Amino acid sequence: MDHEPTLTLRPGRERSVLRRHPWVFSGGVAKVAGDPAPGDTVVVRTSDGKVLGRAAYSPRSQLVARLWTFDADEPVDATFVAARVHAAAERRAGLTARTDGARLVFAESDGLPGVVVDRFGPWVVLELTSAGADRWRDVIADACAALPGVRGVYERSDAAVRQKEGLKAVTGSVRGDEPPELVELVEDGRHYLVDVRRGHKTGFYLDQRDARAAVQAHAGGRRVLDVFAYTGGFSVAAGVGGAADVVTVDSSGPSLALAAQNLRANRLETAGLCEADAFAELRVRRDAGERFDLIVLDPPKLAPRADQVDKASRAYKDLNRVALGLLTPGGLLATFSCSGAVDDALFQKIVFGAALDAGRDAWIVGHFHQPEDHPVALTFPEAAYLKGLLVRVG
Ligand code: SAH
Repeated sequence: MDHEPTLTLRPGRERSVLRRHPWVFSGGVAKVAGDPAPGDTVVVRTSDGKVLGRAAYSPRSQLVARLWTFDADEPVDATFVAARVHAAAERRAGLTARTDGARLVFAESDGLPGVVVDRFGPWVVLELTSAGADRWRDVIADACAALPGVRGVYERSDAAVRQKEGLKAVTGSVRGDEPPELVELVEDGRHYLVDVRRGHKTGFYLDQRDARAAVQAHAGGRRVLDVFAYTGGFSVAAGVGGAADVVTVDSSGPSLALAAQNLRANRLETAGLCEADAFAELRVRRDAGERFDLIVLDPPKLAPRADQVDKASRAYKDLNRVALGLLTPGGLLATFSCSGAVDDALFQKIVFGAALDAGRDAWIVGHFHQPEDHPVALTFPEAAYLKGLLVRVG
């Protein structure tokens, strides 16, 4: 083992690793020996030489190492990486009764930092975001291809975060057959088409599955407004749930075009599609006296970084205030934030402020979080990013 590259921490900087947090920041490192290349595995040692585990080395990033294992005796090799992929996929087996779309690997939460694997029926989409994950691309792709029922693996490693690691964007088919232009997904009986090549992230917001079910359950007979609708995940849920009318707002024409296909795939009306800026559109409709019984507000990540929380809070509050003003008495608002930097408590305060300013009495009647295939390891609370409230107004 002495021939392995080694990263030695500064005195006292072993504490978070001893609590099984997988991140090592460059400021915590005393020295790196053995000349590891980006993505190589390094042995992580305390200042007095005790082995803490093994990590992927990312010299170009502030996040200089991510622990693969906290077991001093566990080697990181192809067998290890493949076993982690299989174990993570196995933990999602219970979801198959409900959906054929699931996140099979959720990075740190599954002991595979920088690795995301989503499944849509027989198609697997792989997203690698760190040098360590990139190093094991072939092993990970093979492991995905070997999962039961998989026809092909498509890579979508084109997230901007790769630049911090000095990695270029990589996309394309990596194992098995090329997926079709649009892959099919059936979730709780609803049909969706997913553009795995050009769609956001890996193509579909699997993380809103539980909220879609709630919207479907509450939509019956209601006039529904789906804001920041993307490809109409919530609009389809509302329609299938028996909504009296669904208006679907997004600023992206291509997203709305796919929303139209998704509505048709479920035999629903497409008359409510509306390409517009949501901030302006909500005001126009409010001022025109339009009212809705159920509004879904699912904006993009408005605070990608912690130093953007104040500005994002004002934007979230503005959206929620105007949306609350559009609700009929007794109406429901399903409102979300996917900004990790905006925690549950802050989000509730923002929605409270919005209700106060809108002059609406409001009650929280439901809470949303990311679903079971996006678990949050207790050792890694940073994985929690999605939160939502179901609010009823007086
Ligand atoms: N609710 C969607 C996911 C929303 S992602 C789902 O469940 O699938 C955020 C969406 O907001 C994207 O589709 C993006 O095109 C849209 N968007 C971003 N800024 C916008 C704006 N100012 N007005 C309207 N839509 C916007």
